[in-house]
Amino acid sequence: MSSSLTIYNSLSGKTELFKSISPNKVGMYVCGPTVYNNVHLGNCRTFISFDLIYRYLIHLGYKVRYVRNITDVGHLEYDEDQGEDRISKKARSESIEPMEVVQKYTIDFHKTLSKFNLFPPSIEPTATGHIIDQIEFIKKIIDAGYAYEINNSVYFDVLKFNKKHKYGKLSGRNIEDLIHNTRDLDGVSDKKNPQDFALWKKAELIHIMKWPSPWGEGFPGWHLECSAMSSKYLGDKFDIHGGGMDLKFPHHECEIAQSESINKVSPVKYWVHANMLTLNGKKMSKSTGNNILPGEIFSGKNKIFKKPFKPEVVKFFIMQAHYRSVLDISEDALNASEKGYNKLISALKLLDNINPSKKDTSFNFDDWNKKCYSALNDDFNSPVLIANLFDAVKFINSVNNNLDNISAATLIKLKTSFKAFVNDILGLYGNFSSSYDEKKLKDILNILIELRSSSRKNKDFETSDKIRNELNKIGIKLEDNTDETEIRLN
Ligand code: AMP
Ligand code: ZN
Repeated sequence: MSSSLTIYNSLSGKTELFKSISPNKVGMYVCGPTVYNNVHLGNCRTFISFDLIYRYLIHLGYKVRYVRNITDVGHLEYDEDQGEDRISKKARSESIEPMEVVQKYTIDFHKTLSKFNLFPPSIEPTATGHIIDQIEFIKKIIDAGYAYEINNSVYFDVLKFNKKHKYGKLSGRNIEDLIHNTRDLDGVSDKKNPQDFALWKKAELIHIMKWPSPWGEGFPGWHLECSAMSSKYLGDKFDIHGGGMDLKFPHHECEIAQSESINKVSPVKYWVHANMLTLNGKKMSKSTGNNILPGEIFSGKNKIFKKPFKPEVVKFFIMQAHYRSVLDISEDALNASEKGYNKLISALKLLDNINPSKKDTSFNFDDWNKKCYSALNDDFNSPVLIANLFDAVKFINSVNNNLDNISAATLIKLKTSFKAFVNDILGLYGNFSSSYDEKKLKDILNILIELRSSSRKNKDFETSDKIRNELNKIGIKLEDNTDETEIRLN
């Protein structure tokens, strides 16, 4: 398949023409969440960015296998090789099982992303479900001579790897600086060198999540799961690897080292990194508390914004920035996005109602359509695409006000394209469970109430009682006041 899609590759530092390894097929791996807490809006921004990429690749006709993992073991505090496992820590503090923590926050993650109308990935593997694959991966690294065992733990030998390969090529870090700057934090590490990283860690007595291995009871290092699971489902070399910018080092650098040490080839063709969402100018983050949860924005129950904003509006706000730019959230920005979003959707709806003329006056569809695709082909430039969509919005409104003309043929083309950009690629309309379903259900309920009240007027009490009793059974109670029927939800 030939397309003019270009992608900024963090590995080369250049925007490159996208050419998939196998014709028509794309393998994409994105680092998923560590499920020890509710996902905040910053996390969501990264997944929304990759949803745009996924949707556009599908739109271009690629068969995409999108793998996004769930980290449910091995991610220790402070992203280091020492300290407590984030999930175990949460389990201990709440006196529940680690797998209860995992279940609770995986459900929250899925629910939140579906509120934003994201497509689920093709495969969502968990680290705990792939312990055997990770053990096999470590054995291969040991056989290749790049890992060593000490006191029932296994570490990756960064210095040895760097002799033949280049460690630090993704993040641009230099091994000498790393040696200089890395400290053995608590002085109790078994590592030969502080910049080495854990592939397998011996479980201390208090450790809850542990598995048998050739090196004794323990658990895998954080970076290993992504190498083991990406190669299992996408092969030793695949097209796109993504994640937030903050994962470049050490996480992605270590992934490259792990895979390259056994396969001798760089595992990923295009490394794609999404930039950070900030709040008050600082990175949104779980650990610092500088964050806001999507649910708090949708309900309006938060101390930051004065009013609630719908998921569609928040998503539109995110799409108005390029995925590689830092984006700061504020009430003013959300208010502006709300206005913009409403304008865009009004125009989308108008497209079904405007009357075509005999011929076009000013609008050149081909030109406009080309500009929209050029924006997407320029490293998924959603803000430029949205600016082009607003050119069409202006035109649609002019036609609606009889100030411009569109022919029937152009109207069909514009309708198809506009909907494809707004619905299919940006995913900004339809399928927003929260607002869409609630509104529909309310409308259905009102139809039932009207039916009941007309049966009562006609003295058809059998029907009116049936409606009330059946609704009661599913927890919807109707209470008749003097002039209206009130709905109570149990
Ligand atoms: P975590 O659960 O902390 O591993 O994060 C899940 C994903 O969210 C990773 O790809 C992170 O890079 C990303 N992420 C974390 N904080 C932010 C933020 N403030 N803005 C955008 N992405 C973020
Ligand atoms: Zn990862």
